[in-house]
Amino acid sequence: MIRNSLPWRRLQHPWARKVAACLLVSVAWHCAAEPVSPPNPVVSIAFVGDVMLADGPGQTIRRGKDPLAHVARVLKQSDIRVGNLECVIATQGRPEPGKPYTFQAHPRTLKIVQRHFDAVALANNHSGDFGPEAFVQMLDLLGQQGIGYFGGGRNLAQAHAPLIIERKGLRIALLGYNEFFPRSFEADVDRAGVAWSEDQQVTLDIQNARAVHHADVVIPMMHWGWEHDTLASDRQRQLARLMIDAGADAVVGGHPHVIQNTEDYRGKPIIYSLGNFVFDGFDSLPTTTGWLLQMDVTRDGVLAWQARTTRLDARGTPHLQSRVPERCWRKDLPESNDCH
Ligand SMILES: [Zn+2]
Repeated sequence: MIRNSLPWRRLQHPWARKVAACLLVSVAWHCAAEPVSPPNPVVSIAFVGDVMLADGPGQTIRRGKDPLAHVARVLKQSDIRVGNLECVIATQGRPEPGKPYTFQAHPRTLKIVQRHFDAVALANNHSGDFGPEAFVQMLDLLGQQGIGYFGGGRNLAQAHAPLIIERKGLRIALLGYNEFFPRSFEADVDRAGVAWSEDQQVTLDIQNARAVHHADVVIPMMHWGWEHDTLASDRQRQLARLMIDAGADAVVGGHPHVIQNTEDYRGKPIIYSLGNFVFDGFDSLPTTTGWLLQMDVTRDGVLAWQARTTRLDARGTPHLQSRVPERCWRKDLPESNDCH
């Protein structure tokens, strides 16, 4: 008989049934008591472009105000928040001689960084503005506040090592590179500084992020391109492709002070420039416009991204331009720009 062939039916003795029932209840209780994380969790990451906390934004903070107050709610929606710190936060050092713009923010600005960001990119053309002494002081201060950083370190190896952030069991590696002069800010075997984007080293760093640091997702954040160019240069395109061929899941960039074009290469997104995010001293529409980018990643890479436009006021404070994202991309619908 089919019915009697079921295991339950075979437990003829009432005592045997009782033991089996207890076992079932115990298994069910265990399953209910221990939350099981989904096999392929979705982690959202927010990326913003240049965050410059000296000058106008620094004065806003000195007066007890928060220059990121108008974007705080949207930033908070993401599991991880990342920005490019386009200044040095320190009290030590001297401005680099002959450099036209040098930005040093007071350590009081750290509480604002800590409030809105989990990690900051240091590989840019301003983190070395006050020399290696100030740069090292910034590393100490960021460490004391528990703010992650990448693309810079106390020596060459640290500058090229990924920052690993783990959320929902997913290990995300962030790498950062500068390739806009001066190259004198570059770290060396015995000198603190930033990571420079040598092709071979970048390839190796991306491969190591997976093989040595066991990252599930790898995203380099770049400081590159020509200022005020709205289209990525041949060099940016070549390097972005090289990074994706080496295993990067996406490439996100900044520095040109304007938003640049985006691409889909082998199903992986490239966002060439996010534009300015917190920065004063600009007045044209393109240079006061930035993107707050939100990216959804899983073990399989980037599922989707969406960008909200922000606009800077005269004090260098960003304001959201609309309640909904203006640009969107989905891996399964790469040609669609429909955000809804
Ligand atoms: Zn820059």
